[in-house]
Amino acid sequence: MQDDALARLDREDPLAACRARFRLPEGVIYLDGNSLGALPATTPAAVARAVEAEWGRDLIKSWNSAGWIDLWQRIAADLAAVVGAAPGTIAVGDSISVNLFKLLATATRLRPGRPVILADTRNFPTDLYVAQGLAALLGDRVRLRLVDAPEALAAALDDGTALVMASHVDYRSGQLLDLAGLTRAAQSAGALMLVDLAHSAGVVPVELERHGVDMAVGCGYKFLNGGPGAPAFIYLAERHQAAAFQPIAGWFGHAEPFAFAADYRPADGIRRFLAGTPPVLSMVALREGVALAAEAGIEPVREKAMRLTEVFLELFEARLEGQGFTLVSPRDPARRGAQLSFSHAHGYAVMQALIAAGVIGDFRAPDIVRFGFAPLYLGFADMALAVARIERVMREERWREPRYQIRGKVT
Ligand SMILES: *Cc1c(COP(=O)(O)O)cnc(C)c1O
Repeated sequence: MQDDALARLDREDPLAACRARFRLPEGVIYLDGNSLGALPATTPAAVARAVEAEWGRDLIKSWNSAGWIDLWQRIAADLAAVVGAAPGTIAVGDSISVNLFKLLATATRLRPGRPVILADTRNFPTDLYVAQGLAALLGDRVRLRLVDAPEALAAALDDGTALVMASHVDYRSGQLLDLAGLTRAAQSAGALMLVDLAHSAGVVPVELERHGVDMAVGCGYKFLNGGPGAPAFIYLAERHQAAAFQPIAGWFGHAEPFAFAADYRPADGIRRFLAGTPPVLSMVALREGVALAAEAGIEPVREKAMRLTEVFLELFEARLEGQGFTLVSPRDPARRGAQLSFSHAHGYAVMQALIAAGVIGDFRAPDIVRFGFAPLYLGFADMALAVARIERVMREERWREPRYQIRGKVT
C-alpha cells in the first residue's frame, strides 16, 4: 500500500480527531494499547483536581460534594454503552482476578449440583488460577475442567457444567470468540456463560445484553485507557442479581453501608458486587478514559481497528518476508480483535530492539511478539512508519545485541 493511499485513509478517518485527545511521546508508535492504554489529555488535570481541590482542600467532604461515592456508577453508565449492557448490570472496582472470584462463586451457587467450571487453557492465566483457588477452597463442590481451545468447549458441556468461562479476545493470538454461539450452547445445556472482556472492551462490540450473556469481567487499563492498575469492571445480567451470592461481603456492597450494622445484608442489584472502599484517584482517571470510549462509539472504532490491522499485516508481510515471523492471529479481520501476533524464535530480543527503535509492542512467552492497534490514537500512516522501522531492525539484525537479551521483571 502506497503512502498516498494511507494519507487518504487518514483524511477520511472519522476518528482522526481523537488522536489529539491523548498525550503520547513524540516519535513513538505505540502498539501496546492492549496492555496499557495511552494517557487521555484530560486525565492529568482531572487527577490533579481530585488530589489538590477535592482531597487537599475539601478533605472528607468530597465523598459527597465531589461525588466520590458515586464515581463507579457514572463510569458504569458509559461502560454499558461500550459493551452493550443494560442499565444497572455493571459495577466498577477491584481487579479482574477479584471480580472473577466473586462471579465464579456466584455461579456455583446459581447452579447447585453442577460442580464443573468449564474453561479452555487459552484463558489468561489469572482466570485459571482464580478458578483453581476457588476449587481448592470449596473441595468437592467445584471442579475446574479444562479443554485445549475455545472451539472444544461446546462439545464438553454436560449436566454437570455450572459455568463456561472464556476470553472474548485471546490475549496471545487475538482470536475472537463466537460469543453468541457459545452463550447459546452453554445455556441450552443449562450452564451459565462468563466472558472475559479484557482485550475487547473498548475496541470490539460485545453486545452482552443482545447475546444474553450471564456474566462478564473487563479491564480498565487496556483499550479503555484508565491508567496503570485502573479498576476493573464486573457484569451480571439483571435476571441473576436478586439470587446472587457475593462471597466478598464488604461494606460497600451492604444494603446500608453507613448504618454500620453488625450483620451483612446485600444491597439490591449490582451494587452488592462492590467490596471495599474504591481507589478514588484511579476511578477519576478511569472515568476520563471510559468517557472517551463512549463518546467515540464502538462501531467506528471496530471498523477502524479492522482496517488498521489489515493495512499493517499487508505491509508487514510485504516487507518482512524471510525474517522468521509466523502469523499466529487469524487472517480474517472479522475473526480477530484489534491485535496481531507473530511467533519468532528470538521474539523477546526482537521486541526489545523494536521498542528501542520507537515501535512499542510487547512479548508473550514463549515466543510471541504482539502488536495492539488502538484506533483512538493510531493513524494509517503510522502503520507504514512502524513497518519501516521493524524492517530496519530486522535487516540490520539489531536484535542480536546483548542488551536486548536481558529480561526485566515485566516482559
Ligand atoms: C489483563 C488481563 C487480566 C488482568 O487481570 P487483573 O486481575 O485485573 O490484573 C485478566 N484477564 C485477561 C484476559 C487479561 O488480558
